[in-house]
This record gives sequence, structure tokens and C-alpha cells, in this order.
Amino acid sequence: MTILQDFTLSELTDYLTANYSVKPFVAKQIFEWLVKSADFDDMTNISKQLRQTLAENCIAVAANIAETYTSPIDGTQKFLFRLADGNVVEGVLMKYKYGNTLCVSSQVGCRMGCKFCASTLDGLVRNLSAGEILSQVLSVNALGNGKERYVTNIVLMGSGEPLDNYDNVIKFLRLVTCVEGINISPRNISLSTCGIAPKMRELANSEFQLNLTLSLHNADNGERKQIMPVTNAYSVEEAVAACRYYFEKTGRRIIVEYTLINGQNDTHAHALKLASLLRGMSSHVNIIALNPVKETGLKGTSEANVKRFLGYLNSLGISATRRRTMGQDIEGACGQLRRRYLTEKHD
Ligand code: SAH
Repeated sequence: MTILQDFTLSELTDYLTANYSVKPFVAKQIFEWLVKSADFDDMTNISKQLRQTLAENCIAVAANIAETYTSPIDGTQKFLFRLADGNVVEGVLMKYKYGNTLCVSSQVGCRMGCKFCASTLDGLVRNLSAGEILSQVLSVNALGNGKERYVTNIVLMGSGEPLDNYDNVIKFLRLVTCVEGINISPRNISLSTCGIAPKMRELANSEFQLNLTLSLHNADNGERKQIMPVTNAYSVEEAVAACRYYFEKTGRRIIVEYTLINGQNDTHAHALKLASLLRGMSSHVNIIALNPVKETGLKGTSEANVKRFLGYLNSLGISATRRRTMGQDIEGACGQLRRRYLTEKHD
């Protein structure tokens, strides 16, 4: 089945003209419906016959919202999206004063093997197509009651390693930023990576000036290898050199994600090593306490240790703040909701 949300307007026009003799203006109408996350049934200005034929051969909405959980504490919403092949991925909508940020998934599962992360427990199932990533944005945007842009910001920080699905992510960026579509500025989009250095450099040279986040969590190679196997392929120094390159090319300040795990990366020595690694780089460190995932056995740091670690960094002249943890009560951490869905409902 062809996913229509995988196409740009001109690709869709070519496809529909070539395969179904559809006129360009009709293709444009269909494209507009797809941006609204409408299924074939809803496309009222398209002939019934064409809708029927398309429904038999194509997919309109690639990621349907199957379940929604809303946090009674902060209003954060977590979505479980169902893909056409029955796989599920998740997304989180965080509501801020300036707008709504949606965190989307780029893969079903993940093969990076980070020890604290729920997304990687069963490895990589498959990559998402560009349209399947886009569809998460469009499905949630459609909840905005006709508001053209309910989702104002996007973070590629859900399940999966976006730079391990590079081509589809680039295509997604092309779709989500195009003027005929939802047209979100790359400045309002962030991509988070565990540190695939060559791809970070490739992204720096791409047409998209996104915000880049490095999930670092430890500045020592030996220790980081224990929790993040990607360090065997790309050292901390290589990842940070790629960040420096990214800043040179784009002028976008790098966000460094640092999740505190009890007793593993939260001492003064860790802060010193982190500070010397980042010295002179335009960056900001986001500190968060680990969101415990029961299968991993790892624990978050105490509140007192979070404050202490932040104090160390600030006294070393490193720009750092604690990131608000949102949606913890609804299993907001990467991969947790899908995990619960799989274990509760399909075992
Ligand atoms: N693969 C990408 C994006 C997905 S993970 C990356 O590594 O950046 C998104 C972020 O959530 C990463 O910073 C990751 O390290 C972090 N994360 C994963 N599991 C977590 C948990 N249980 N508690 C806190 N942060 C977690």
C-alpha cells in the first residue's frame, strides 16, 4: 500500500496522475485533506469512486491516534499511534505558554541499546517512513479544532535514533517545512541524537538549520560505553567535535542532554569532566533525573543530588538548567508507553 503522506505536493500530483489519471487540481485537493489528517471518507469534494479506488490501494493517514493519555498534573498528552501494519509508536504533546511541542518517534524500537531506555529493549523493529513521522504531527495538529498550527514545535526525541533513519528523517523535514503543507520552520524543530558523529556532520551540511541535541549522559568514554554502546563506534570527543562543527555551520547552540543516574554519573568528578569537554562550545546542558524503567533496574538521582550537580556545573561556568520533567505520571519517558501497551495487551 502506498502511503500518500510520504509525498510532496508535486510527487503526489505525479503519482495520482500517472496511476489514476487524476487532474492536478484534484491532487491538490487531496493533498490539502492529507495535511488535515483526513481519511478518504472525509474527502467530500472528491468523487466517491476515486475515494474508493484510492482506499483500496493507498493509505491516507499513516499514523492514527489509537490511544490518548492526559496528565491531570500538567496537561501533557501522550499518544499511541497505530501504523498501517499494526505496529505502534508514541508521541508526547507538551503545552507551553508560547505553543505546543510535539515529540515524535522516528523508528519502531531502536538498535542503539542505551541501558536506561525503554525503546531499545526489544531492538529495532523497523524504520518509519517520512510520511509516518509526518502523520504523527498532522494527526495531533488536527486536534486543534481547525487551528492551522496547533503543533508549533517538534522534537525528534521519541522512540528511535533519528540519525539511524537519516534519509527518511530528511524527507520528513522537507515535508513538514514545505509551504503547501503545515509549514513549520526548521528553527522550531529539534533533533536529538545519541551521537552518530558522521550523520551529525551531514545534517550540519543539509539545508535544514535545526536545533541539535546530543544525549551525552557521561563525558567519560569508558563509563559511557557501559550505558551507551554507541560510544564504541563514536567516542565522546568525536560526538562533541561534530557538535562544534554543527555550531560553526548553523550558528545554532547545541543542547546537551544529561540524565542523572544514581551513583553513575552524578559526582563532582563527572561535572569536572563534562565542563572540560564542553569548554568553549556554545551549548546548554539540560539536566534531568532518570525516569526509571522497571526492566532496566536503574534509578534516578535524588532531588538533592540533582541540585548539587547543577551547582557544580554552574560554578564551573557551564550554562545548565534542570529540565522540567513533564508527563512522568503518564509514562512520558521514551518508549515506556509502547512498552506498557505491548506487555499489557499483547502478551
Ligand atoms: N535516540 C535519540 C532520541 C530518542 S531518546 C537520542 O538518544 O537522543 C530521547 C531522550 O530521552 C534521550 O536524551 C535519551 O537519552 C532520553 N531517555 C531515554 N530513556 C530515558 C529515561 N528512562 N529517563 C530519562 N531520559 C531518558
